[in-house]
Amino acid sequence: MPTDNQGFIPPAKPHIGEEEIEAAVAVLRSGMVVQGPEVAAFEEEFTAVSGTAHCVAVNSGTSALQLALMAMNVGPGDEVIVPSFSFAASANAVRLVGAEPVFADIEPGSFCIDPDHVEALVGPKTVAIMPVHLYGHPADMTRLVQIAERHSLAILEDACQAHGAKVNGKPVGSFGIGGTFSFYPTKNMHSLEGGMVSTDDAQFARTLRLLRNQGMEQRYANEIVGANMRMTDVAAAIGRVQLRSLGAWTEQRRANAARFDAAIKTVTTPPVAEGAHHIYHQYTVRVEGDRDGALEQLKAAGVGSAVYYPTPIHKLIPYAHMDVELPVTDRAAAEVLSIPVHPSLTGGDLDRIVDAVNALEV
Ligand SMILES: *Cc1c(COP(=O)(O)O)cnc(C)c1O
Repeated sequence: MPTDNQGFIPPAKPHIGEEEIEAAVAVLRSGMVVQGPEVAAFEEEFTAVSGTAHCVAVNSGTSALQLALMAMNVGPGDEVIVPSFSFAASANAVRLVGAEPVFADIEPGSFCIDPDHVEALVGPKTVAIMPVHLYGHPADMTRLVQIAERHSLAILEDACQAHGAKVNGKPVGSFGIGGTFSFYPTKNMHSLEGGMVSTDDAQFARTLRLLRNQGMEQRYANEIVGANMRMTDVAAAIGRVQLRSLGAWTEQRRANAARFDAAIKTVTTPPVAEGAHHIYHQYTVRVEGDRDGALEQLKAAGVGSAVYYPTPIHKLIPYAHMDVELPVTDRAAAEVLSIPVHPSLTGGDLDRIVDAVNALEV
């Protein structure tokens, strides 16, 4: 049984248990540590989450995005429509392949990319749309798929925060040519560092496999120019152990969120769109008042909350020159606050969090 967090309740609590340690040690003892049978098994098993025919493992979520864009042939002269309200990796991956991100605003409820704004931004250089399933809430894929079809655009889903999220029962990562997942320690499951690209397209999967490993399938028979983005078997072994708990952890997150929904009165709790299966990577409220003051008050009460993200990507140094107006994004960046929702919280922890939030003076 988990025990109450004494003192400070951390905003995230990456799990590294005995099973993870034993799985890693077993790989180390085998002497075969680089991409091998554990990676192959992890890829096969993760298709149950992505709902796709293929998965290709890499060394991070950022690599997954970059590799997918490379395999899509996105490069100089191309534009990809991305939300600005995300982790910088979403836009960085576009720049890393030499293309330009075009920033779209978000919907105020889901915090995900606004399909109407996406369609307004489509131009002659647009080649793809990259929705981000922020906080584990899926973007409006029904409308985004229609828009992509109407304008002959590809969709690459950034599902790095959304392992197991769904729209009308269909898993994220299965709507476009590819989806990307991160296994960074604070994500809903981890492999220390790691990432995955999901796809239903066998040819695309083969290109991903070539590009992550110097362009070769047979050793020293390099077919194309590729990178080294391989996952190790140590990481994959840890990821496989974590994957066995993902379903139960997700249900615990959803149960914690339901409790917050029912009990929190002082701030705006996160709405869930119709047909959306939210997996609560974050439980993010809106503070329509002194958000930074609320952050301090929660810290003083021993509740580790955090702001994702205080600065939207379009205002970060590498992108600030683009000078775009995204009012819904700016407002969210000023108002959001994520409180702990991770599966290791006890009933006592949840009570403390609810009491601290309901005692906020904003
Ligand atoms: C974590 C994250 C990434 C990057 O994943 P890494 O494994 O840290 O490289 C990309 N996009 C989003 C939305 C993320 O949250």
